[in-house]
Amino acid sequence: MMSSLPNCPKCNSEYTYEDGSLLICPECGHEWSLEAASVEEERVIKDVNGNVLSDGDTVTVIKDLKVKGSSSTLKQGTKVKNIRLVDGDHNIDCKIDGFGAMSLKSEFVKKI
Ligand SMILES: [Zn+2]
Repeated sequence: MMSSLPNCPKCNSEYTYEDGSLLICPECGHEWSLEAASVEEERVIKDVNGNVLSDGDTVTVIKDLKVKGSSSTLKQGTKVKNIRLVDGDHNIDCKIDGFGAMSLKSEFVKKI
């Protein structure tokens, strides 16, 4: 059905059509990808309990974690303030007193 596609973001034409993963406007020739836009919106990072995390949240570490390149261990219960969400395997960037800049995995933290 034609009406299920969004109008052209440039000229607002309603005659857009799909070509593979692209949407194309026959009136002004604009091409864009619907997938790229929706993937960006759907990036959701959750803590161990499934609560959605956001930039600036405060979390606690749920288990003792070995710190790469250091002999010290990040103790269970350590409070981590002002987290930043990033892409990757370690999807939380943060700074921890006594450790400095660190990367953590979201499955090892709990939102407070
Ligand atoms: Zn157009």
